[in-house]
Amino acid sequence: MNLEEIKAVEKKHLLQTYERNPIRFVAGDGVYLVDENGERYLDLLSGIGVNALGYAHPVIEKTIAEQSRQLIHTSNLFYHEGQAELAVRLTKMSGMDRAFFCNSGTEAWEAALKIARAYAGVLRGEGKTIGTKFLALEQSFHGRTIGSVSTTYKDKYREPFAPVMPDVEFVKFNDIEDLRAKFSTDVCAILVEPIQGEGGIRPVSQSFLEAARELTHSTGALLICDEIQAGLGRTGQWFSYQHYNIQPDVTTLAKPLAGGLPLGTMLCTNEVARAMHPGMHGTTFGGGPLACAVAVAVIDTIERERLLEHVTEIGTYFQEKLDELRAKHPAIVIVRGKGLMLAVEIDSADLAKQIAGEMLAKRIIINRTSETVLRFLPPYILGKSEVDLAIAALDEVLTDLAPEAIGAATTGGNHIG
Ligand SMILES: *Cc1c(COP(=O)(O)O)cnc(C)c1O
Repeated sequence: MNLEEIKAVEKKHLLQTYERNPIRFVAGDGVYLVDENGERYLDLLSGIGVNALGYAHPVIEKTIAEQSRQLIHTSNLFYHEGQAELAVRLTKMSGMDRAFFCNSGTEAWEAALKIARAYAGVLRGEGKTIGTKFLALEQSFHGRTIGSVSTTYKDKYREPFAPVMPDVEFVKFNDIEDLRAKFSTDVCAILVEPIQGEGGIRPVSQSFLEAARELTHSTGALLICDEIQAGLGRTGQWFSYQHYNIQPDVTTLAKPLAGGLPLGTMLCTNEVARAMHPGMHGTTFGGGPLACAVAVAVIDTIERERLLEHVTEIGTYFQEKLDELRAKHPAIVIVRGKGLMLAVEIDSADLAKQIAGEMLAKRIIINRTSETVLRFLPPYILGKSEVDLAIAALDEVLTDLAPEAIGAATTGGNHIG
């Protein structure tokens, strides 16, 4: 089928849940994707934060080939070495004690929500006063299944499916007073993306996360950090909560975990793990031999190639270059993020949309989220020359699309050398 035929068939036979870009990619290598005409695209989105090692990484190819010859699936009724090997790495890097494996971000989040409710039940059984309510944050995104979507802020994701899971209240972002006002012994967990992804790459403040930790400690409620987008090294630390020196009780990972294969995990402490017993929760596919073997290879590659250091270094360079663009183009409101999880906020949603479109026309893939935010989630292996390429393109696009604004800045600024 050619692209036009695919489009026609999808229009007729697929549930209409996506607005796709009219491009068919057929291959990739490193930080580049290749379309059916052989055109190369610099990918600064990596499949929404998934392809952390880029495309056609030899370690991933080799691991998939070898493991697929041995075993792809056996179910969770039998042992294989993959979950054990992966759990050893994940618990060490996270400071958690135990892992549960599943297939996606939203499933990892469901596991986190379920264990929070079950753990509160254990505490009640032990005579503690603790309820079943979740506090989530405004602009949060935790996934699309009914539980996850109930804790996701945007109305348009929740309301068509009402009634969603009850007992969720949203707290104003970084508003400690609002958090304190809404917190009580009714609450079983506070839910936080330390750096919100879909919500526009917004880091919570140190004092907000500290307040959440202190409040939950005071009642036995859990602090649950969603690291599905920010985790596994994207921000330069294995987990973004490590930038805050705050240890949650439960955390979740997914997007980059298995090099493009579907895999999610919920990690928790021994204390919280008391709430789960055989038969209470499970999955048919989750944590299969193939996905686990690739995840182990991804983690070992990040360590061997010292990619956390690289992400910090190249991320800082990228952010500095974006800040230089901000000084030049008043259409850029602010640049924010950490490591290779970066955002440029534009002063209008229309303009942000146009910029993403024009960048694609220049064969550079970025993404617009939260209406006005240009989001960058490139592979960890991004190099300086590629950052320079992206910055030059963005400069050109901004100059073309918002030229009058530049004039204003030039007159206002001290531009005479
Ligand atoms: C993507 C994402 C999810 C949902 O993951 P899926 O694999 O799409 O179910 C949940 N939380 C955060 C922070 C995410 O970025």
